[in-house]
Parts: sequence; structure tokens; C-alpha cells
Amino acid sequence: MDQFIYLDYQATTPCDPRVVETMLPYFTDYFANSHSDHSFGQRANQAVETAREQVASLLGVLAQEIIFTSGATEANNIAIQGAVKYRLKQNHTARQVITVCTEHKSVLEVVNALAEWGIDVVTLPVNREGLVDHEALKEALQTPTLLVSIMAANNETSIIQPVNELAKIAHEYGAIFHCDMAQIIGKIDHLSLENIDLASLSGHKIYAPKGVGVLYVRRKPRVRLSPLFYGGYQERGIRSGTLPVPLIVGMGKACEIMCQEGKEEAQCLIYYKKLLIDGLKHNIVNIKINGSIKKSLPGSVNLHFPGVQALDILNRIPHLCLSTGSACTVSSLMPSYVLLAMGLSKEEALQSFRLSFGRMTTQAQVREVIDALSCAYHDIMAGR
Ligand code: PMP
Repeated sequence: MDQFIYLDYQATTPCDPRVVETMLPYFTDYFANSHSDHSFGQRANQAVETAREQVASLLGVLAQEIIFTSGATEANNIAIQGAVKYRLKQNHTARQVITVCTEHKSVLEVVNALAEWGIDVVTLPVNREGLVDHEALKEALQTPTLLVSIMAANNETSIIQPVNELAKIAHEYGAIFHCDMAQIIGKIDHLSLENIDLASLSGHKIYAPKGVGVLYVRRKPRVRLSPLFYGGYQERGIRSGTLPVPLIVGMGKACEIMCQEGKEEAQCLIYYKKLLIDGLKHNIVNIKINGSIKKSLPGSVNLHFPGVQALDILNRIPHLCLSTGSACTVSSLMPSYVLLAMGLSKEEALQSFRLSFGRMTTQAQVREVIDALSCAYHDIMAGR
């Protein structure tokens, strides 16, 4: 792998070796079911509760507000379907759910599926910066609304929405506010869940393993959810099933590391991003940034190379691991629906790709990326 430079930390991160080391004993030595009453089971249970504390501490919330899931997709599903189902069972009269057109598919597809339950879905647009208009949200909330779901940071553009302000507006109109926080957790240090009722996290975006995530469920005022599936009543009945203790331990450790090192890491990534953008702007005068640099995640950027197909660039630099869009859904030949929603033409969207640095990126790699991208661009423009 040495010759490859990984630049796709928004798709997934490697497991931090310290996370792997912490997990290993829970596969072999302390493998018991965390719900078994014997002392072996209790040891596993203790590890789960420690992980819960570690996650809660990163989020600045209570440990009892943390539900372990298989990832952010499941957390989004439980949050959206669970909140709506519960409120419908209570004979709530509202029938509307509001979301945004640039959400991850694990929100958009769930919300669309709610139509089968007689729910009306309002999908808000975004502006050229990828941001939601507060007035448009207020306008949509004139119709009684069960739930508003808006992500904190986009997985393609890394644009950060002011979700606490949006949540406040939702509350003024009596709606629950859910936030997909898979991309933002641990990446910025002034994140607050103050007004958020439900939030989704993914382990593999923060150097924990794939297959584990978290749903934050606010206790005061309490948000009640119906489960997606029924079983042994684990995780307060919201997510039944035997807990994957090693994965949960890994998630906890990853959060602990983020608590200790996240701030410094973010500073380093901001520096790398500036280095990259300055270097590329110097070499490619007409390069553009999709969205706003100031309102985006520290190590991520969405680049637009006018006049050149993104795939042509990527095909010339196969040692750089980059994606043109979300790894989770579309074929690379499709223009990104997120960029189209921000007002880019189909052509402009196909000339764009995201790039993200992370914990294992080095300054030497950043410099190599600047050179490789610049060469590839100029070679294509020169017809070489
Ligand atoms: N939401 C966002 C914003 C994401 O980026 C992702 C992962 N690409 C998910 C949800 C889904 O997360 P998971 O892979 O843990 O299901």
C-alpha cells in the first residue's frame, strides 16, 4: 500500500492501531455476551458501559442518551422511522417531515419511504454554498410537522450547516429535530448538541471499525422512539440484538482519542487543506472550490477543474485514492446530486471531485498530491 496516497477519509477511515489493540481482547479473551449475568458477561458489559461514557463524553451528553447501532445508516433509520412511528401511534395530527435535498441517501431514502405511511415529505433546496435558507425552513414549518432531519456536515462537499440554529427553529414549531452527524463528529471542537433531539454517528468515519455506530437520543425533554425491530430489549428496546462488544469497545476508544487529540488534529488538517488549495491555485489558475472553504470540515474540500472531466484526472493518477462522489451510492459516471442541488451544471459537476485528508496524511503526501493533480490537469489540457 506504500505507493498509494489515501485521500478519501470522508468515505471511510482506517482503524487507528490503538483502537484495534483495545478491541482485540474482546474477540478472544473477554468474548462473553454482555447481557449474561455471570462475571464474564459482566466484564463485557462493563466494557460496553465504558465505551458509552467515552462516546457521551466526546458529544458532551449523558451516557444514558447513547444507543449503539450498526452504523449511521441504521441510526438514521431508527431516528426517522422510530420518531414518526411513535408520534403517529400517539395520534399526533401532523403528517409532514422536512429534510434537505443534499442529505445522505440513508436519510433521503428513508424519508421517501415514509410516503407509504401517508407522510408528506418536504425536501428543502440549498444555495450555491450548500446551505439551507432559514426562511425556507420556517415557511415549510407553517404546516404542522413531525420531524425535521438535516445533516451537520455533507459527505461530498463537507459543508457545515448551523444545525443548532435550524433545530431551534424546528422546536419553535413543535417538530423533533434529527441530525446526521456522521461526518462532523470529532472534526470540529465547538460542536454542541444543545438543541438536537436525535443524532446519528458512524464508527468508520472516526478511525473505529465499520459495522458500529451510535444513535443519540435526548432524555430531557425525552424523545420517544418505536424500534425498527423487536427482540431481547437490548439498548433500552430501541435496538434489540446481542451487542458486538469488540466493535463497541473500538467506537469508545476512537471517541476517547478524538477527545484527546481532535483539536490538534483539526489544526493540522486545516493547515494541509490551505497548503493544498494554495498550491493548486498557484498551478491551476482557474481551479474552483465548490461550496465555502470557511464553512467546511477541516481536512476536506470539493474541487472543480473547469474544462476537464474529473474521471480523466483520476484515471491519470491511480495511486491517489480519490472519489468523484459518495462511495455509498452512485456510479462514478453520474454527476453528484449534491453538486447539482448547489446549482452546478451537469458538466461542472462532472468536472469536480472531493478530496479529504485525515489522521494518517503527511505533509509530504500533500505536496505530492499538488504536483500529481497539477501535472494531470495540464497534461489533459495540452492533449498529452
Ligand atoms: N450519513 C453520512 C453523512 C455518511 O457520510 C455516511 C457514510 N457514507 C452514512 C450516513 C452511513 O454511515 P454507515 O456507513 O455507518 O452506515
